Amino acid sequence: MESAVAGETMARPGAAPDGEPVSALSVQNVSMVFNRGETQVHALDHVSMDIRDGEFIAIVGPSGCGKSTLIKLVSGLRTPTAGRLAVRGRQVMKPRGDVGIVFQSPVLLPWRSILDNVMLPIDVLKQDRTTGRERALALLRLVGLGGFETAYPNELSGGMQQRAAIARALVYDAPLLLMDEPFGALDALTREQMNSELQRIWQASGKTVLFITHSIPEAVFLADRIVVMSPRPGRVLKIIANPIPRMRTLDDMLRPEFGALVREIRGLLGGHVAGGENHGTRAEW
Ligand code: ADP
Ligand code: MG
Repeated sequence: MESAVAGETMARPGAAPDGEPVSALSVQNVSMVFNRGETQVHALDHVSMDIRDGEFIAIVGPSGCGKSTLIKLVSGLRTPTAGRLAVRGRQVMKPRGDVGIVFQSPVLLPWRSILDNVMLPIDVLKQDRTTGRERALALLRLVGLGGFETAYPNELSGGMQQRAAIARALVYDAPLLLMDEPFGALDALTREQMNSELQRIWQASGKTVLFITHSIPEAVFLADRIVVMSPRPGRVLKIIANPIPRMRTLDDMLRPEFGALVREIRGLLGGHVAGGENHGTRAEW
């Protein structure tokens, strides 16, 4: 049937008045210079990217190229020297409540149970504890920690603690999840498991994810698009779309397309590898 409302623009959330979808995250010409005494550190140089709602973006780049700085700018913990960042069309001006952050180490409070750690944002933001508790319990099940609610962090393995930290980042239901090398400290096997679980959690939650890693295979396994950055001052060398269909399994890492993507990214990074500041070797990837 012919639409009776042809030409009418639906005013839906996440859409600008002209009907154009608003980016989940927009980074436009962002530069960041730190003043360190007499010297200036040029961390980011005209970085731009547009991330769609529900997209999983991985960022790879040499150590010191400004990846963590970018996370701090997106979360509003710092202000860029130049350029503009907007989350769902709203400029980032100060620390904001609608992003969840997972850091490299889980930073759980040792004196709080796992459930109370996950509920920390609820308490800090003074949200309703009854609904918050239900959410926290559901998330603990989602990340595979059902039954560990009353355990304390030191009773859990590193991988389990990191899953608790992910549950905590999801508890206040922020549409944007920022993850800064969250699995860097894990052993290879746990890391592969976490990658599979993160893919599942991301699909179940529908969130937009900005994921930083120095592992190229991890980026290719997880991401819809991979942002490859140059050494400092960090610039975007290329944004690569990943055609490998979902749900991905660890076996997909053996596909020729997977290897081709890894090679392309490695080629772009050239000799500039993780630990680049310390003259790291390619083997570190
Ligand atoms: P990455 O996460 O890619 O390893 P960072 O974003 O942590 O890189 O840092 C980028 C550069 O900015 C580095 O040279 C780092 O030393 C510098 N830097 C980061 N934060 C500060 C700060 N608060 N003051 C001065 N320099 C900083
Ligand atoms: Mg970093």
